[in-house]
Amino acid sequence: MIKAVRGTRDLLPPDTALWNFVEAAVRDVFRAYNFQEIRTPIFEETALFSRSVGEETDIVAKEMYTWEDRGRDRGALSSSGSQSRSKSVSGADSRSGSHSGSEEGRGQSLTLRPENTAGVVRAYIEHKLWDRGLNKLYYIGPQFRRERPQKGRYRQFYQIGAEAIGPASAGSESPARDAEVLEMLATLLDRLGISDWNLELNSVGCANDRAKFNEALRRALEPVVGKMCADCQRRAVTNPLRVFDCKVPDDQPIIETLPRISQFLDEPCRTHFEAVQAILTKVGVRFSLNDRLVRGLDYYTRTAFEFTHGALGAQNAILGGGRYDGLSEALGGPAAPGIGFAIGEDRLVMSLKQTAEGVLRKPDVYVAPMAGMNGEAARLGRELRQHDLVVELGDESFRLKKSFEAATRAGAKYILIVGDNEVKADTFSLKNLATGEQVQVARGALAEKIR
Ligand code: AMP
Repeated sequence: MIKAVRGTRDLLPPDTALWNFVEAAVRDVFRAYNFQEIRTPIFEETALFSRSVGEETDIVAKEMYTWEDRGRDRGALSSSGSQSRSKSVSGADSRSGSHSGSEEGRGQSLTLRPENTAGVVRAYIEHKLWDRGLNKLYYIGPQFRRERPQKGRYRQFYQIGAEAIGPASAGSESPARDAEVLEMLATLLDRLGISDWNLELNSVGCANDRAKFNEALRRALEPVVGKMCADCQRRAVTNPLRVFDCKVPDDQPIIETLPRISQFLDEPCRTHFEAVQAILTKVGVRFSLNDRLVRGLDYYTRTAFEFTHGALGAQNAILGGGRYDGLSEALGGPAAPGIGFAIGEDRLVMSLKQTAEGVLRKPDVYVAPMAGMNGEAARLGRELRQHDLVVELGDESFRLKKSFEAATRAGAKYILIVGDNEVKADTFSLKNLATGEQVQVARGALAEKIR
């Protein structure tokens, strides 16, 4: 028997109703902050992620689904204009005779997206979105990381994210954007009924601060790193900041003694961070400072944050994000400061108090046709659905008793009997399944009565 691949899963009803409930609330709340939806491809060139997320991060170093795409397709994949496509096709033709691994013949390294910020920023640059004034974008979709699966951690998981990005002249560098994004998240969580969240806030500074901090870390790590895990020993040399990502219990006491980024912030970064906190306080969004929080991706600058939720257990981060002021330039674009986040939708759904039953719309009416009445029942069903009612259709082969059982199992509010006499009289008996009350209702009045 073929089963779903380890770390992936099927989302089944009634849970899918919860997912839809979450996504509807997201669209609603994000709209109020003037964010608009973007959908980027599920796979991208590998270099997009190594350049943005960072070579030394767990994501890029160990967790990406990367493959060499077949060389033959390369021309068709990398060009969209018909002119360049015909060129590539002729290139492919000449290759087929040569058997040599020419530049064009070699495959292209592609990767299933492990996160979506890089894709959004790539699209921002590629389509010059600043020219269209598009600087607040959100996405909802699957991401892929080859992590060890456990509760709340999957290899295909879903993220809901938003990016506020743009030229500094559009205010994208302002601490007001950071505060707005954080306030939007607080609003969303409250709206979903997740009120016991905790916002942890830090500033990871700018490139200058980070260089000084990394140097200090390197020095502090030198005498102790021999006692740490193999990953930390490598990080200490290549990217000491990433030591803070370490989850190995034995390393934690050592990490506790290391210098913190908060000691290395320059004046502009400190001022920015204080302004973010001041606005949050003003609008009544509570937070706590955590100067160990450096997030697992290299592109972050200044504000970094996580929302956690106690009910989630070990994997307690519902969402994370931060500012990424140099990311656009790192990907070959113009200066475009930005701030964004990604919510783990799987975990968000897990921490919802509502049950799927509570948000699932059950059938308003079960239409039960007597013998030979499937056609009439279908006609009635069609009329009622046009009035925006949820209708479940039975079958003429069912005995009345079976129809009642099926209607009850489906959770329908009413059962509507469609027999010869009813059709002739154009009046139907409608029974409320909860109260047992039964009434005769003319065809034209049915929808109103059921609602
Ligand atoms: P990151 O992109 O690593 O900053 O993660 C942002 C959020 O995505 C986390 O706070 C989690 O809620 C969620 N997330 C990250 N990785 C996974 C995973 N493997 N399975 C489920 N959720 C995840």
